[in-house]
Amino acid sequence: MRVLIVGAGTGGLCLAQRLHGAGIDVAVFERDRTRTDGLFGYRVGISPDGSRALRSCLPRPLFETFKATAAITPKYTNFVTKQLGELFSAGGPADEDLLAPVDPEAGERSVSRMTLRQILLSGLDVHFDKKFQRYTQNPDGTVTAHFADGTEATGDLLVGADGTSSNVRKQYLPHAKLVETDLFGVTGKLPLNDETRALLTPQMLRGVTMVFAPKGINAIFHVMEFEWQRGQTDPELVKAWPGMTFDNTRDYIMWGFGSHRRLLPPEFMSMPGPALHHLVLQRTKSWHPNLRTLFELADPTSCFPLNIRMSEPVEPWPSSTVTLLGDAIHTMTPGLGVGANTALRDAQILGDNLVRMPVLDAVADYERQMHGYAWDAVVKSRARFNGNSLAYKPVIGRAGLALMRTGMRVVNHVRPLKRRMLRAELKNRDHARQEA
Ligand SMILES: Cc1cc2nc3c(=O)[nH]c(=O)nc-3n(C[C@H](O)[C@H](O)[C@H](O)COP(=O)(O)OP(=O)(O)OC[C@H]3O[C@@H](n4cnc5c(N)ncnc54)[C@H](O)[C@@H]3O)c2cc1C
Repeated sequence: MRVLIVGAGTGGLCLAQRLHGAGIDVAVFERDRTRTDGLFGYRVGISPDGSRALRSCLPRPLFETFKATAAITPKYTNFVTKQLGELFSAGGPADEDLLAPVDPEAGERSVSRMTLRQILLSGLDVHFDKKFQRYTQNPDGTVTAHFADGTEATGDLLVGADGTSSNVRKQYLPHAKLVETDLFGVTGKLPLNDETRALLTPQMLRGVTMVFAPKGINAIFHVMEFEWQRGQTDPELVKAWPGMTFDNTRDYIMWGFGSHRRLLPPEFMSMPGPALHHLVLQRTKSWHPNLRTLFELADPTSCFPLNIRMSEPVEPWPSSTVTLLGDAIHTMTPGLGVGANTALRDAQILGDNLVRMPVLDAVADYERQMHGYAWDAVVKSRARFNGNSLAYKPVIGRAGLALMRTGMRVVNHVRPLKRRMLRAELKNRDHARQEA
């Protein structure tokens, strides 16, 4: 059996690792020119589902490298106002029993995308600079992928793991639609050092912090602190080195700023980093001085724009020698933070099936399972992050925000409610808890 995978992203590479490890002939085709193209270095949260998939697909030494290169796992989930007033915070000693992972090795991890990609690429046959254009399904049951440079490759199965704008999906399921959420974002990075650490509350330092401001404007802060690098570099040298912001092995803080399209300039998606940085500073003038300084200290050239889109759930289709995984079929908003984890789960299921079953049975069983958990995640992510929700409405949005804040404060103070919410959150990221 020969498997062709289009896209060397999180899902495609994880599947390739699983098949390669089982001795199956697998080739990956990636449009990027090099292994570091197109990676802005932002962080990704790998859930217990994602960690479990990586453990089952990667050779042991690579899984150990994944564990060793992760940042310190965030403990707290914090929701705050723009003045850093606490709305909700979970993850302290009183919640430790709930937070204890079901499977300690497959726990929550916070990793740099660049590092994860380098781990996933290790040992694989990846063809860079191969932009997939179309495929043909041949009379002998094979499938041929055609690339922009005029070359082609033939195999028994074509897996479209080519992300949100997937060309494989456009040909295979032309009726599958991407929808706009009308939400846009900017991300930025700054070094974590004594100066910036002093701007964080203890819960921010060891957690993921979301800021809810009027008009639906929001922000998120992640701290990436790497134990494996501690004490290995002269801090003065790092401070004086501009490239530090782009080096994923040094400690950093990453922030994201989000807003409705209505409040942003029409040219937002083509604005360069410094202009985006300036825009964030303008829109957060009335925020707490510490948050302002965290925005200010980001390197303007590390800022880039995001357009949040999502897939419309699709009815099951007859399975064939072409299939799709990850964002190529189920792009979701960052509402639950499980897009990459769902891509990893796809890779684990499809990979395990291909090792054990004939191709068509493997694909049919994978797609049957995927239609359940993936659309569930798409719908839940939309409920969390959607430009139509009350918080973004011009006039009643203020009342919506007040209502939401009151709800969060109540939950924060009523312990049984808080634990119930935390439990539900944990189940979204760990399906072993749902089954337990
Ligand atoms: C700001 C932000 C934060 C996020 N945080 C999280 C998080 O914390 N946790 C989480 O689980 N998810 C998160 N996500 C979602 C996550 O990034 C995606 O769901 C995940 O990357 C999808 O993986 P994938 O393999 O399907 O696609 P991708 O990782 O997008 O990979 C697709 C690959 O296909 C290649 N490609 C595209 N077209 C072609 C072509 N024509 N020919 C050849 N190659 C092609 C691309 O270059 C790319 O390498 C976040 C997303 C955003 C935007």
